[in-house]
Amino acid sequence: MVKILGVPFSTRTFTETCDFLQDKLQGETPHHIITANPEIVMMAQDDAAFMTLLERVDLITPDGIGAVWASKYYGQALHDRVTGVELSTSLIEACAERGLGVFLLGASPQSNTLAIKNLRQRYPQLRIAGQDGYFKEADVPEVLAAVRGFKPALLLVGLGVPRQELFIHQHKQDLQVPVMIGVGGCIDIFAG
Ligand code: UDP
Repeated sequence: MVKILGVPFSTRTFTETCDFLQDKLQGETPHHIITANPEIVMMAQDDAAFMTLLERVDLITPDGIGAVWASKYYGQALHDRVTGVELSTSLIEACAERGLGVFLLGASPQSNTLAIKNLRQRYPQLRIAGQDGYFKEADVPEVLAAVRGFKPALLLVGLGVPRQELFIHQHKQDLQVPVMIGVGGCIDIFAG
């Protein structure tokens, strides 16, 4: 682990990160993962509660090359970027191979539906479901019930920073999904 401006980054390579998390997909314990860009690091500088959240998550990877460069000044160098899209793709593939479920939570209704359609086309055997990210606070219990009912091994949450991080942190124990990642605009990227 190397701290950059107080944020604890994992020093695992991309491959090590994928192996580590693929191993967790069928476990009992929920894991919260952040692929942190400079926006997240800077936000934590002025927000002590957000910094505390970052200190408590299970794994933070460097989403951008900036963190990889900065790490050289902090003694222990980070090797690779581990971006949300690449990490999510690798874990979706693992789920498809093992018959495990993937739930996409976030983006517009059109984008969410299209992302699911594209991923089904790419991995015909994939068990996948989703829910768009424009729900009201009052609908949160229903959203949580939909995720729990599907029993995914992987939950990708694309609600924007910091809402997605707060959502996973707040509902981690309730959701009990083995691997949960805040993915920003990745669902839009899967939508094409
Ligand atoms: N989003 C959402 N609900 C909201 C606000 C945003 O689902 O109430 C989605 C938005 O449609 C997009 C993602 O969150 O898919 C955020 O993408 P962006 O690239 O802006 O986020 P960042 O990666 O910069 O946090």
